[in-house]
Amino acid sequence: MNILRLVAAEKEKKKNPSGAFKKLEDEAKKCPSNERKSGPAVQDKNDLKHSLSPMQYHVTQERGTERPFSGKHLRRKEEGVYTCIVCDNVLFHSSSKFEHVCGWPSFRDVIAQGKVSYTTDTTHGQVRVEATCAQCGSHLGHVFDDGPKNHPVRYCVNSASLEFKKHTTV
Ligand SMILES: [Zn+2]
Repeated sequence: MNILRLVAAEKEKKKNPSGAFKKLEDEAKKCPSNERKSGPAVQDKNDLKHSLSPMQYHVTQERGTERPFSGKHLRRKEEGVYTCIVCDNVLFHSSSKFEHVCGWPSFRDVIAQGKVSYTTDTTHGQVRVEATCAQCGSHLGHVFDDGPKNHPVRYCVNSASLEFKKHTTV
């Protein structure tokens, strides 16, 4: 494959992101990161420092990023749901999780609309769509348009911001 053609295709993709991603991007534009609101405080920040691990605190409260391939949920394949580590908001179902080369857990979609909020993140010289928990404002990760062919939206989420709950049979 001609490399120039590949580059041109990539550029075209950037100009015309998928409809679903464009929608999230537009939603994020309404809320630049410097105007980003945190949801209702679930717990005092000091309490969180005690209840969360240093990495969980760094990721969710200081918008940090865990090292790629270091997260505990990266290779998890069991059936269940992923909840916000801070407030228990149910965010993702295991059926939308997929393997991606990036090194962080990747999901095709949230479990239901309104579970995640989107803001525009302009740190690190990039313009990215940041995903935060809609209930408590915790940072989760970012949303990209490089997902699987039939579903290009990809939620790239830090394991440190998620708790996994196995489906239990009643
Ligand atoms: Zn939350």
